[in-house]
Amino acid sequence: MSFINNWLRSDIQAINAYHVPASDDMIKLDAMESPFPLPDELIGQYLAYLADADLNRYPNPSADELRQTLRELMDIPADFGVLLGNGSDELIQLLALACETGDTILSIEPSFVMYGMIAKFTRLNYQGVNLDDNFEIDLSATLSAIKTHKPKLIFIAYPNNPTGNAFDRDAIETIITSTEAMVVLDEAYYAYADDSFLMDIAKYPNLVLLRTVSKIGFAGLRLGLLIGAKNTVTELDKLRLPYNINTLTQVSANFLLQEKDEIDKNAKVILTERSSLSTALSGIDGLSVYPSQANFILFRAPGANALFEALKTQGVLIKNLSSAPNLDNCLRVTVGSAEENALFITIVKAYYD
Ligand SMILES: *Cc1c(COP(=O)(O)O)cnc(C)c1O
Repeated sequence: MSFINNWLRSDIQAINAYHVPASDDMIKLDAMESPFPLPDELIGQYLAYLADADLNRYPNPSADELRQTLRELMDIPADFGVLLGNGSDELIQLLALACETGDTILSIEPSFVMYGMIAKFTRLNYQGVNLDDNFEIDLSATLSAIKTHKPKLIFIAYPNNPTGNAFDRDAIETIITSTEAMVVLDEAYYAYADDSFLMDIAKYPNLVLLRTVSKIGFAGLRLGLLIGAKNTVTELDKLRLPYNINTLTQVSANFLLQEKDEIDKNAKVILTERSSLSTALSGIDGLSVYPSQANFILFRAPGANALFEALKTQGVLIKNLSSAPNLDNCLRVTVGSAEENALFITIVKAYYD
């Protein structure tokens, strides 16, 4: 037996590492990245900003300027607290670390896999509750699971990944008011959704929101935020590692996230493209396309595995979910640029011809 096998926690040895597929030279429509590069006219100014960064010094520990920039970008009221993370993934982990030994994390399924993985890493219990056949919250099953398992944390992605829909608002509010858990609404896709729970933070002390800049054009920055009541954020901040937002991210985000018009314009393009992509997919015989309020579309396709491989062979990478529970024959495609989407559609159409 090797050293590490002898040494490592057995539950960690037993899991499969989170797999990020190779994507060199591929058209990447698998990870909800934005297709838009930095506009040419901003590059010079951006580089000047970067050149000014004091890389010999530690970053601003609380990233004050950046938090202000994010408040303005996302219209976050001054009386809410904002906690930054190295991606919202880090904030999911921070919330798990705030739990007691033996506590339970509850989420709905299918949803973002990190909720379950982080529960495992942090040795918490994890309880999934299945969505109904329309990928809507099964309220009675969820309320009964809350009663039975008394979770400490409830994660709900709004809109949900990988299904793309935003759940019924009344169902979510019923969950928030029926539990002593902290309810975390993960609004990673807020820029593409019709509604948000941001203002509900004032109403519900057990509600916090997660957001990220990853899905609005800046996945490479690794920057997420938790928004909640001020005293909630002050306490949770004790668990944050000092300097978790590095100088390059702070400086870059401070500059780039002030381009609110550019960010909004890009989001609008994605919404238009999402609508065309959805229409085009729906027009292909045999496919069923689910409604989306995110920058991706989930669809069911006969022989999904083979279609996924055909796309890959022709240089287009999407996400194959067909072996996940309740997602048989389901694929998820990120909304890309008009050219990328057109190529994707051409390949899918040709495949079924
Ligand atoms: C992509 C995604 C995230 C990850 O965000 P990062 O800020 O890149 O860590 C979080 N939640 C959901 C639901 C996502 O789809």
